[in-house]
Amino acid sequence: MTITTTQSEMKLKRIFIQPQIPQELAALNRMSHNILWSWIAQVSELFSSIDPQLFTELNYNPVALLENLPPARLNELAGDKDFLKRLASAEEAFDAYLAEPMKKDLPRIAYFSMEYGLHISLKLYSGGLGVLAGDYLKEASDSNVDLFGVGLLYRYGYFNQGLSMNGDQLHHYPAQKFTQLPVEPVRRDDGNWLKVSVGIKGRMVQAKVWSLAIGRIKLYLLDTDHEDNAPEDRALTHQLYGGDNEHRLKQEILLGIGGVRAIEEMGLNPDIYHLNEGHAGFLSLERLKNYVAAGLSFPEAREMVRASSLYTTHTPVPAGHDHFPEHLMRDYLYNYATDLAIEWPEFMALGRLDPDDHGEDFNMSKLSIRLSQRVNGVSKLHGKVSQEMFTELFPGYTAEEVHIGYVTNSVHYPTWIANSMHELFSTTFGKDWVRDQSNKDIWRKVHKIDDKALFDTRHVLKVRLLNYVREKLKVDMRRRGESPRTTFDILSKINEKALVLGFARRFATYKRATLLFNNRDRLRELVNRKDQPVIFLFAGKAHPADHGGQDLIRQIVQISKEPEFAGKIIFLEDYNMEMAKLLTQGVDIWLNTPTRPLEASGTSGMKAAMNGSVNFSVLDGWWAEGYRPDAGWALPLERTYDDQHLQNELDAETMYSILEEEIIPLYFDRDESGISKGWMGYVKQIIAEVAPYFTMKRMMDDYFERFYLPLGQSARTVRQDNQKKAKAYAAWKEATAAGWSELETIENNTLDTVNYALPVGENFSAEVVIATNGIDPDHLVLEALFYQRMDEETIKLRRTQAFERVASTNGTATFRLSVDPHLAGVYEYGFRMRPVHDMMPHPQDLNLVYWV
Ligand SMILES: *Cc1c(COP(=O)(O)O)cnc(C)c1O
Repeated sequence: MTITTTQSEMKLKRIFIQPQIPQELAALNRMSHNILWSWIAQVSELFSSIDPQLFTELNYNPVALLENLPPARLNELAGDKDFLKRLASAEEAFDAYLAEPMKKDLPRIAYFSMEYGLHISLKLYSGGLGVLAGDYLKEASDSNVDLFGVGLLYRYGYFNQGLSMNGDQLHHYPAQKFTQLPVEPVRRDDGNWLKVSVGIKGRMVQAKVWSLAIGRIKLYLLDTDHEDNAPEDRALTHQLYGGDNEHRLKQEILLGIGGVRAIEEMGLNPDIYHLNEGHAGFLSLERLKNYVAAGLSFPEAREMVRASSLYTTHTPVPAGHDHFPEHLMRDYLYNYATDLAIEWPEFMALGRLDPDDHGEDFNMSKLSIRLSQRVNGVSKLHGKVSQEMFTELFPGYTAEEVHIGYVTNSVHYPTWIANSMHELFSTTFGKDWVRDQSNKDIWRKVHKIDDKALFDTRHVLKVRLLNYVREKLKVDMRRRGESPRTTFDILSKINEKALVLGFARRFATYKRATLLFNNRDRLRELVNRKDQPVIFLFAGKAHPADHGGQDLIRQIVQISKEPEFAGKIIFLEDYNMEMAKLLTQGVDIWLNTPTRPLEASGTSGMKAAMNGSVNFSVLDGWWAEGYRPDAGWALPLERTYDDQHLQNELDAETMYSILEEEIIPLYFDRDESGISKGWMGYVKQIIAEVAPYFTMKRMMDDYFERFYLPLGQSARTVRQDNQKKAKAYAAWKEATAAGWSELETIENNTLDTVNYALPVGENFSAEVVIATNGIDPDHLVLEALFYQRMDEETIKLRRTQAFERVASTNGTATFRLSVDPHLAGVYEYGFRMRPVHDMMPHPQDLNLVYWV
């Protein structure tokens, strides 16, 4: 139905009527404006208790709740002694948290991300990347760490998912009301709203800066959707991951360049810039520009930027690495070449593999690697995969030598733990144990918890989940227009005695959401066993442009309506953080079936693990580190087939077998008290042995130890004495690079390996004389490398041994080696010279090699 005004246009103006909260309840208002409320259980329970139904309807948003409560209800609460008592106690916990001081003498970190998953009521996230960033900021607050976030404030964010009767994904974009978010304008000293301007194709776009309180720290968000801007620029902060490639480019310019400008305006002076994914890569361009404007040369500026930047790469899937064609780069960023005092091709080369390949797109990952001293992947395995993926940027080195490290992702315990589980843990683990949450010894006390108590607590969580499923299906199916009979049929089959398995995540095709359906006959048999009911719950959104992912959703929705699968295979629409909590807390088994090795980490399984939901997953990403045979089930890491179809078939058959032969029988093997002791063993082991490692505190500690502290040190070093060392280092790099092509081998007296087989135990010897020309021999290292050939393309480095420099006279240096390689068999070897300098954090910091 549409309403048309037949006479004149309606003439309306906007007014914001601020709700009047009684004085007694002022603390509610205050607490609702710091997202901390969401992870202090006492506070979130207090909000929910005011009106559980309204709270749920309002997306668990306490600001909206207070705005929507009738004045009579507010007054009633203001006179409710019991409520006021609970309020005072919650406020005390809240204030005690905020009163704690930040840690001193640690580097200050600026964390940039395109998305943040903080809470369902803040539409700033799409999936795992965002949830990780949100969890990380919460932990920074919990750990009193001096870190702040930078991102975009989206009007519509990522879409809400609907489904048609047919299973087609529908995309809804309800607008966020900023007055109902815990955000506040950042103001200049003169009281005016802080705005930063960013040039977008000749127009100056004004971005308002908002701040969002996350416990003790802040997230700063840029917003272009206001009257100062032209309509197309206002749209810049409308959607997350919406629009075309050009739109993405503009958003990334806004995030990176606008973000750095906002930081400067606020005078925040971070020591380290952490790029959460390549989306943020342009921040380094703006920083370079500022250094050049302050009088540094481009190479000097680059040293300053590199020495204070960490880039975290999040996926081996190529589509996850943004790249832009040259003409777009020219349209939007041409001025940067001028500002950086470099030629345009040199500018483009920052984002290219081959500087001379003028057809190559500008790639954000390559840019980020070139302008960050440190790089990491997000699990041990993903670290390796990333080394391989980016080896081509470092010719002369094999993958295992590439300086890319890793920090395995994790999850924020207070956000993801069920309250009832937390209470059960806390009575056994002791007071304040959460501060030491990555300590396994504490978690091992779970074995002291009575099996029945743990089983019952988990059962209540399962019942809560299934009630939610029933309610949700009732509403969603009616809206879709399903017949009441189909709905009734499905609802009536949902059985609380069932073994419940969950699979929920983005429906990217590599995650193989439909693997389970590979063999319908076998699946039908599996879910229709007498006395052993099984339910599979599915949820997840596919990107609006990902038609492959949407196909998978359609398939599952259609299967879920077939009589033999009704009530046993269920698809829940609109996956979000609240649903993720219910699912990971309530299911018995959390499933994940990615195509190896494409799951960089995955985090939902960790949420499940800490709640005692046992994982069954491909040994990829985090599970390759977390899996133990007594704490879950796994599909093997190695691929058997190159053909993905055959591999899918094998994986599906393996999955059915493990379910049929191990998981289902164990779950239903009940003793006289009605529980399965064997099952509880798995539950306890995944809590005791797996969960502690995947807590955010461990991840934060790892980032400090592996990256922030060393970077903080190098950032300090390059700043000292007016950037003296940065300048010297840049000059040395320039000179070394210029002289590198002059290196020449004058003599090479190596053991004759063509005619002589070296017996085991005997030394391999070589003496080499190099014309070093202008390069100081103290800055040269010569190494012998022994490789093993795996196949035509791959060699593995087995041993590295440095030569000793035995003489250097005007312009030549003599190197000698005599070493027992401690190897047997056929190897390939080479002598590789590389530059060294005490400012060098790793060999690839100056990317030059010379083969003798
Ligand atoms: C945790 C979470 C994810 C990430 O799940 P993966 O296992 O990493 O794929 C995605 N979406 C939501 C809503 C989440 O809560």
